[in-house]
Amino acid sequence: MQDEIQVHDKIFVPYLTQEEIESAVKKVAEKINSDYANECPLFIAILNGSFMFAAELFKHIRLSSEICFIKLASYKGTTSSGHVITSIGLDTDVISKHVIILEDILDTGRTLSRFLPQIEHQQPKSLKIAALLHKPEATVHEVPLDYNCFKIPNKFVIGYGLDYNGLGRNIPSVYQLKED
Ligand code: 5GP
Ligand code: MG
Repeated sequence: MQDEIQVHDKIFVPYLTQEEIESAVKKVAEKINSDYANECPLFIAILNGSFMFAAELFKHIRLSSEICFIKLASYKGTTSSGHVITSIGLDTDVISKHVIILEDILDTGRTLSRFLPQIEHQQPKSLKIAALLHKPEATVHEVPLDYNCFKIPNKFVIGYGLDYNGLGRNIPSVYQLKED
């Protein structure tokens, strides 16, 4: 793992190694394997950030199961509620399935708190959330997090699927923004 890396104008320092991440993701996968024994869950991975987490986790899932990848688009609605979130690519029926949402990072919780009611509306049998990273200090919208690999401080991170202005997703470990 390189000591420091530059992405665009910013310097990042190592935070989580690939080994730490892979072992934590495997543990979560094993927990899911035992929690959902004899069930056939549907994993819904939220793009772009969760693609690497989803791939790593899914390799360790021993259940008969489905996975689909969706994008969330946020736009200003015409109602007073403001921003509306729509999902693109959810081409699988959710009704009566055990759904597990895969997110890269739970930050303020705004995205998921808006998206979860839409999934609930489609009447899954159950709905749980797995996030690679969680910033508890930043979370303002309460979202029940059922599976989490790492709690991290409220600092910007990149790597392992997460980007800074489009770059850095291919880094196999997690780097944190360097303090000035
Ligand atoms: P929330 O709606 O929970 O505030 O934000 C969730 C999304 O913001 C994440 O899925 C992720 O795409 C982005 N995000 C939040 N914190 C970070 C971070 O530290 N680094 C990067 N690269 N993206 C972040
Ligand atoms: Mg995301």
